[in-house]
Amino acid sequence: MFNMAEKNKTALEIRLKELEAELDKVANSLKSEKRKELIDKAAKSESALIYGMEYERKSKEIHAIKNSMKRIKDGTYGICIQCGKTIDQKRLDIKPTAKFCITCRKKNDKESSK
Ligand SMILES: [Zn+2]
Repeated sequence: MFNMAEKNKTALEIRLKELEAELDKVANSLKSEKRKELIDKAAKSESALIYGMEYERKSKEIHAIKNSMKRIKDGTYGICIQCGKTIDQKRLDIKPTAKFCITCRKKNDKESSK
């Protein structure tokens, strides 16, 4: 349990650094293209939309990683927040920010697509 969290922590820290650098780049692109102006014309400007979506996506991922790192600290990392079972290591390797075990994920997906 502890070793698993340590292993993923390193991966998460690396990913977080990458993402923060990428987010900076996107933020700078937005700024350099006069952000406000672009948002006003967002419907017409494809690039503004793409940047906006990129920014949002990366922000969300950073948020998820920070959350995971907090849970590593708390000792709750790798435990499904819904059913309390241990999340499969293979799943954490693919998605280190996973909060749900595969069973709950599938269940939630089904419910959200109702
Ligand atoms: Zn679960």
